[in-house]
Amino acid sequence: MIETIQTVSQRVLGGGKITMDEASKFIEMDNWPDVLHLASEATRIREKFTGKQVDLCALVNAKAGNCAENCGYCSQSAHFNTEISSYPLMNPDQIVERARQAKEFGATRFCIVTAQRGLSDNDLPTLCEAVRRVKAEVGLEPECSLGFVTDHQLEQLKAAGMTRYNHNLETAETNFPNICTTHSYQDRLATLRQLRKHGLEICSGGILGLGESRQERLALAFELSELDVECAPINVLNPRPGTPLAENTPPDPMEVIKTIAVFRFILPKAKLELGGGREVNLRDFQSMAFLAGANSLIIGGYLTTNGRQPAHDTQLLKDLGFTV
Ligand code: SF4
Repeated sequence: MIETIQTVSQRVLGGGKITMDEASKFIEMDNWPDVLHLASEATRIREKFTGKQVDLCALVNAKAGNCAENCGYCSQSAHFNTEISSYPLMNPDQIVERARQAKEFGATRFCIVTAQRGLSDNDLPTLCEAVRRVKAEVGLEPECSLGFVTDHQLEQLKAAGMTRYNHNLETAETNFPNICTTHSYQDRLATLRQLRKHGLEICSGGILGLGESRQERLALAFELSELDVECAPINVLNPRPGTPLAENTPPDPMEVIKTIAVFRFILPKAKLELGGGREVNLRDFQSMAFLAGANSLIIGGYLTTNGRQPAHDTQLLKDLGFTV
C-alpha cells in the first residue's frame, strides 16, 4: 500500500489526478500506519499547492431556527422537536458587531448564515448592507450562506462585496434522499453552477456521519473536484437531540483523518476546511487533521453548538507552522 500511496502522490504533486480506483483503495484502509503514510503524503500535496497559509473562518447565525426544510441532521428544521431558540434576521449593526468580535479572536473570513430554504427579497437589503460593512468597516472577507438564491440576489450581494458563497452538497447524491426530501441534491448542484456563472468562489462540502458509505464520501469528493470548488468544508456529525439522526454514530478519528487525507488527494488545490463536530469527534486528534491535508478552520463556534476557545486553535496552528 505504501508504494501505491507514493506513486499516486508523485502523480498528484506533478499535476496529475488520482483515479476513483486508487481513491477507493485508500478510503478502505483500516490501520493507522497506512493512514499516517497517506496523511504524510497529503501534507506534501497541501504544502506544494497551498503552502502554509491557513484560513480562519467565523460564522454568525444571522437568522435562526424554524426552517421549512427537513435536513435530518439539523436542529434548525421546523420539522423536528429540537427546542432550539429561533430569532428573525439580525440587523446590520448586530452582524457587524459579531464580525468585530470574530476579528478580535483571529478570524480572517466571516460567513453570514441564515436558516432558511432560500433568501427572500425582503431580507436582501439588510444582508447587502451587512456584507458591505463587514468588508469596509471590519476588514474581514465576507461570505454568505443563505440557501437558494436568485441571479438578481447574487448580483446584489456580489456588488456589496461578497466574493464567496457557501452551499454544501452535504453528502453523495445517492445518500441525499435519506437525509432530506424537501429539496434535492440536484437543486443544490444547480445553485453551485449558478455561483460559478456569477464569477463567485464556491464553498461547498459535506458532513461525515450521515449514514453514507465510504464510497459515497468519495463520490462527494469527486463531485466537488468536478466543480473545482475553492473551499470544501468537512464537518463531522454532532448528533442533535430531537433530529432523525440523533442516534447516528459518527465516524471515529482515524476514519475522519483518513477521509481528509483522501479529500486532499482529490482536491489538491482547495481549502479543506475543518468544521463543525471536530471537537466532539476528533477530540485529541484535531491537530492530526492539519497533518492530513486540512488548511482552513471554522473558529469561534458553530451555528447551534459551541466550539472551543479560539486561542487554543490559533496556538495549535502556530505550533504546526501555519501562518494565518
Ligand atoms: S441545513 Fe439549512 S436548509 Fe436544512 S434544515 Fe437546516 S437550516 Fe434548513
